[in-house]
Amino acid sequence: MLAMLVMMIGMFSYSMKTMSIKEAHSKARMAADIVKMGLTTQMLHGTMDKREDFISQIEDMKDTKNLWFIRGEAIKKQYGNGNNNEQPRDKIDSEVLNTGVEKVMYQDNLFSDATYRVTIPYKAEEIGSINCLQCHDVNVGDTLGAITLEIDMNDIKTTSLNIIMYTSIIAFFLIVFINIFFSNLVRPYVSIFDAIKDVMSQAEKGDYSYRIEDASITGEAKEVAQWINTLLIKLQNTLTEIDEKVQIFLANNAIKDSDPLIEVKNTVTRLSNIYLFRQAIEHDEYLDEVYNRLVKILHNEFNLNNFNIFEMDTVNKTVNVVYIGKELICDIDAGCRADRTSSTVDSCNYKDLCKRVIELSDKYSYICIPYTISNELNIVLSIIVSGEEEVKEVHKQIPLIQDYIDAAKPEIVSKKMTEVLEKSARTDTLTGLYNRKFLEENIARISKEQQRSNISYGVLMADIDHFKMINDTYGHDVGDETLRVIASTLKENTRDSDLVIRYGGEEFIIVLYNCNAEYLETIANNIRIAFSKKKIKAGNGESFSKTISIGGAMYPTDSDSFWKVIKYADIAMYYAKSHGRNQVKIIDEEMKKKVDLDSEY
Ligand code: GH3
Ligand code: MG
Ligand code: MG
Repeated sequence: MLAMLVMMIGMFSYSMKTMSIKEAHSKARMAADIVKMGLTTQMLHGTMDKREDFISQIEDMKDTKNLWFIRGEAIKKQYGNGNNNEQPRDKIDSEVLNTGVEKVMYQDNLFSDATYRVTIPYKAEEIGSINCLQCHDVNVGDTLGAITLEIDMNDIKTTSLNIIMYTSIIAFFLIVFINIFFSNLVRPYVSIFDAIKDVMSQAEKGDYSYRIEDASITGEAKEVAQWINTLLIKLQNTLTEIDEKVQIFLANNAIKDSDPLIEVKNTVTRLSNIYLFRQAIEHDEYLDEVYNRLVKILHNEFNLNNFNIFEMDTVNKTVNVVYIGKELICDIDAGCRADRTSSTVDSCNYKDLCKRVIELSDKYSYICIPYTISNELNIVLSIIVSGEEEVKEVHKQIPLIQDYIDAAKPEIVSKKMTEVLEKSARTDTLTGLYNRKFLEENIARISKEQQRSNISYGVLMADIDHFKMINDTYGHDVGDETLRVIASTLKENTRDSDLVIRYGGEEFIIVLYNCNAEYLETIANNIRIAFSKKKIKAGNGESFSKTISIGGAMYPTDSDSFWKVIKYADIAMYYAKSHGRNQVKIIDEEMKKKVDLDSEY
């Protein structure tokens, strides 16, 4: 605005000066014309001798400082030199007479007088009623003389300076007023902008506790400041409240972000991931699927690339290997330090902490975390790590893993329970062998497997000889013990791929996988001989031995119906009984005829 003021004064001064010079010039021209016309008139009336009076009258015109008239060479030659006043007074006069060109001069200093001086030549012309050539011996265009006027410019200068001064003062006060007005109008907005900048830069760093408290913020801006403050308070309180409430569902020792907004986002993401996981495992049918999902999450979400999971049965003191990532690094069956102490075993801090670890090179460390699932079941997650970075990362992840284990707990417990119940429904409690229900449920599977693989199965039916007598002689408990002895004999003489089933009271079925008739008879005899050698305690210090009769048939060689093969084995077993017991009989065509007559099968 100041620059504008200076420019304005400059332009104003320049225009004033130009205007006053123009004014002075036209005044001078007018005076020169009047003098010219006056002299001509005097010339014509023959009163040229009175020209001094006339000139001095003109000279008395307002602002006319000096006025003189000079003769040119042609006039001097014709009429003489004239009086003294009519001689060139300075170089300018002489130059104008010589050249015939008008000359202007303006003298002005700030603190001195201002004078405008013009010397105008009179030229010979023969236009109009006055023809110079009638009286003068000259040619058209010759310089007859010249008139010089000095005009006092002081009045105009003073007036101009006053105008400039007053205008400048008004402009200055206007500028001051505008400045004050605008700064008052704008200041609250500038202040609120600065305050918002401060508060927001803190909020950007995660600190929502800053408020806009500048006292210079007034009017509408104050209202805006209050809205922002209310919003920040609401945001801070809501974030804290959400975080506190949501944290209830999560392991509380998880690493927090310094920005509560990001913290809430992270927490909600964690919760929603866990919710999805929980929803997925709720619809899983078997415990295996739950563990598989957990393994996938540990791999993909927690970036664990080498870990093992164990199930610890706290009642039977047994261990079940749930998952092996790369290799088993410890003799887990001998015991687990993490499970025993119910605390994390971390070899990153203390090497060789667990004496069960066998297969681990020096560059690896292990972190084993125990999780209590129920009174009967614990889980141990054993993570194998290498390198400082990985160790640090895994330590960060451990609290977050806890959330998934917590989410899986109810499902592990309920699915484990179902598994136990299902197993017990298919297991004979006295002998620990499979029961008849199990056989019934698996016959369809065996048939399908056989059709697919074309592998033969052997079926044996075994029955203790004169079992009733044991009950009668020694009592029911000894009878039960005899049943346990035959069960273990059957297990000892078969492979894991074979099925041993307690079919009825003292009748057993053995399904031999991948078997031929020869092998069938051999195994049957092995069982028979082994059992006959077993000493069964009678309870009164005595012991006795018993024999069994076994019948056998081949599936699908003897029949493509598995039930029919069982019936054949049964018939063969009765053949053994009727032929003196303690022997093995394999079904033959003659025996088969007996069954084929029976419509039941
Ligand atoms: P055989 O040589 O002809 O097979 O004669 P056996 O006495 O072995 O046959 P029988 O079918 O006449 O007797 C079976 C007996 O097995 C009848 C029943 O009391 C007894 N028994 C069945 N289940 C059990 C059990 O769980 N425990 C005991 N102690 N006895 C049982
Ligand atoms: Mg019997
Ligand atoms: Mg029987």
